[in-house]
Amino acid sequence: MNSCEYIVLHHSASTQRIDQFSSINAYHKRQGFPLSHRGFYVGYHYVIEKNGHVCIAREDDETGSHTVSMWPPYWDMNRRGIGICLAGDFTKEAVSLEQLQSLRELVDELRAKHGIPLEKVILHRQAKSTSCPGVDLVYLMESMTGTKPSQPLPFKVQLAQVVKAIARYLSRQRTPTEDARLRQLERKEDRLEVLIEEEK
Ligand SMILES: [Zn+2]
Repeated sequence: MNSCEYIVLHHSASTQRIDQFSSINAYHKRQGFPLSHRGFYVGYHYVIEKNGHVCIAREDDETGSHTVSMWPPYWDMNRRGIGICLAGDFTKEAVSLEQLQSLRELVDELRAKHGIPLEKVILHRQAKSTSCPGVDLVYLMESMTGTKPSQPLPFKVQLAQVVKAIARYLSRQRTPTEDARLRQLERKEDRLEVLIEEEK
């Protein structure tokens, strides 16, 4: 059983382009993770592919197999938390805009359904010594406020927002790899601003 008090965000640490759900399923089967009511071995409750598609592996109230907690207050997250994994290795590549939009929608839906406050939407690394999920997905997701599906901003503006959010995050604490990535992003952002200006 799962009491659904928390949402724990992960990345898959794989750069595979498509169908990571099947790969994770095969990997977790070999690891001996429990079969879900939906017929999958995937330890997370949800997997969000790079194109934004949300795959459901487990019912929210099923025990997961995604977080071995190392310190309080995050004990027993597999029985108290819903695990969401985004396909990608965010220490090496960016989160896609489609993934962030799907994440935002899924998290909003789960928070409303189970009454989960934003402070209880956590990154895997808050519960265990790991780099997972690379970037601060909560920060990136929250910085997308205003991109309501009914009133979408132009794609380039949304993309620029994501690039800016990632750049802001990376500039707070960065390694040499992230430094290089930030420079890449800044160049991209400059190009985007030119494009947006041209559109006005
Ligand atoms: Zn993780």
